[in-house]
This record gives sequence, C-alpha cells and structure tokens, in this order.
Amino acid sequence: MGGIHSNSWAGLGGASFQGHFLYERLALRVDICSKKFTALHVTMKKVSVSGHTSKYALIVSVRRKLPTHCSMDNPTTALIGLGILCSLFYCTAFEWFMHRYIMHRRVTGLQFAFVRHTRTHHRLIEGDHTYHVSDPEIEKHIRMPLWAGPLVIGITQIPVCLVTYFSQQWVFQGTSVIFCALYFTAYEYLHYCMHLPKARRVEKGRVFRLLNGHHILHHWCMGKNFNVVCPLMDLLMGTLVVRPTRRFTQPPVGGPVPDLQPRNPQSKPA
Ligand SMILES: [Zn+2]
Ligand SMILES: [Zn+2]
Repeated sequence: MGGIHSNSWAGLGGASFQGHFLYERLALRVDICSKKFTALHVTMKKVSVSGHTSKYALIVSVRRKLPTHCSMDNPTTALIGLGILCSLFYCTAFEWFMHRYIMHRRVTGLQFAFVRHTRTHHRLIEGDHTYHVSDPEIEKHIRMPLWAGPLVIGITQIPVCLVTYFSQQWVFQGTSVIFCALYFTAYEYLHYCMHLPKARRVEKGRVFRLLNGHHILHHWCMGKNFNVVCPLMDLLMGTLVVRPTRRFTQPPVGGPVPDLQPRNPQSKPA
C-alpha cells in the first residue's frame, strides 16, 4: 500500500488493515491542512497484499496545492504554536519596557506618556482607597487615548516584519498581529476593570484577583509590578512583588481585591 503515496499524492483504502491505517493518517492531514488541497479523487484500485493475494481497495487521493509547505509533521501548526509562544514573551516584554521606560520616564518626544501615566494616573490613583475610582473626572484618566492602541500594536510589528522578511514565514506576522492586538486589548480592558469594578464576570475569576493584587502593589510602589496582563517579565527582571514587607493601607479586601498585607503580623506600617 506504500506505493500509493508520492510527493504530491496521498492515498487511503478502506478494504484492508493497511487501508484503514492510511485512512487515519490522511484524515489527520486533511483536518490540519485542508486549505492545501485542491482536488479529491475516489477510485477503486487492485492492490497486492502479502505478495500473492489480490484485493480491491478504495483509494482516495488528494492533490496538494503547495506540497513543499505541508507535510505529515505539519510545520504550519508548529509555526503557529511557536508564533504564539514568541508573541506571549514578546508582548509581556514590550509591556514591561513600555511601562517602565516610557510611561514612568521622561523620554524626548514621548513626554505625553509620562505626563498622562505617572503625573496623572498615579497621582490621582494610589494603592489605597483611591484605587477604585468613583469620580467621573478621574475615570477619564484610567484608559489610554483611543489612538494609542493601534499605534502600540503597529510599533510591536516593526521587529516582527524583519523576522518575517528573513524567515519568509508569513504565519509569524499573522500570529503576532492577532496576539499583540488581543494582548493590548486585554491590557486596557483589565486595567479599566481593576480601577472601576462593577462585578463583571471577568472580575470573579481567580486570575483577575491575582492580577488585580499585582496592580494594586504597582500603585503602592511605582518601581514594582509593571506588567498588567502577564507578570512574566516582572519575574524575569526582578520587579515582581507578591507581598510587601511592611503593612500598607490597601483597598478594602473582598471580591476582586485580595489581602496583600505581609504574612508576618509583626510587620510595621510602611
Ligand atoms: Zn492603574
Ligand atoms: Zn505605572
């Protein structure tokens, strides 16, 4: 039955054990790479089993559109998986560097980010009872301006363009655009929900509670916990704080707000 295969044609049969085996393999290929196939043929073919017995087997053959990019080990799926992993690492790193070095530092030409974030957002909202915003005037200073989202997503794609150009793997660009857009949308939405809780469904999850505690500590100490969506880079760069060493006035514990006080009851107030 192996002779049925060629570079651009795959076969399957339903009348023998071998045929069933090939059917399973082909089903996997069609499932993953269906866009690569342009033609499907069903024929009956006389095949030889064990060198002396002839049987008829059902042969289904498909022609691949791009035979070099779609093989049994399915590199497209592997590249998408690799693209998602790289994008996650890239987004958490971009978020960390942007937050620490642009939103918390004066950078020539980008002062608006420093003024809007450090001078306004952090000055109006601290890690205490002011963390939850009730004043509509202050509410305006929770979100980034609308135009900042597409700008940030566009900037994240500049290095990815180079990777795509040299690797000729457009799947990286596609994965990266989608993932970065989702990541920074999540950043904005989660950050908004953290400062303006309304018992939304997302606020009831354990992950949100952890991330909310992470961000409360950032408002308590601006030099720590720069990530909002995924604290991976805080962990790698040594800026992660899970609990402070001294007691501090935090927002009321309950719902999406965890108890962030030191475990040691002897700790002095900050
Ligand atoms: Zn905030
Ligand atoms: Zn900040």
